[in-house]
Amino acid sequence: MNRPKFIVDCMGGNIAKKLRIMGFDTEFWLDASDAFLIERSYHEHMLLVTRDRGLYLRVSKSSTKGLLLPDEDEVKNLVFILERCDIKHINPVPNLNTRCTICNGNIKKLDKTRLSNPIPKKVYEKINAIYECSKCSKVYWEGTHVENINKLIDNINRLLGR
Ligand SMILES: [Zn+2]
Repeated sequence: MNRPKFIVDCMGGNIAKKLRIMGFDTEFWLDASDAFLIERSYHEHMLLVTRDRGLYLRVSKSSTKGLLLPDEDEVKNLVFILERCDIKHINPVPNLNTRCTICNGNIKKLDKTRLSNPIPKKVYEKINAIYECSKCSKVYWEGTHVENINKLIDNINRLLGR
């Protein structure tokens, strides 16, 4: 299966960020009409992710595909999405599939001596791999920067592996 792409409505900002860092092409719209989201989802082959029952009902009557998030809990929602897409495992981040959490840009691996944005000196001395968003230049690195997200991913992988 191709890597799924997602379009997330205004209630799913945190979900969108997590999907991006896990490596999924994910659009997030704060202020878009149901009709726009459905159209865009259909034309760009993106799964429409929402917690809005009304929107989901419209999706299910349209030609596009969507997922209605079942829970308040972020981990449960992410596991739900990944299971529906038949994804069994998520790699630790950042990696070369990671998308920028801010702008959904692709990230590229950087030689740390060529950083355009300075990072704290202590961090700089410790890390090997640095990644930079090719659109907005936000910088990502291994270790403490993404520690909590990798804990979340461990948790999700355990649940996916049940
Ligand atoms: Zn970016």
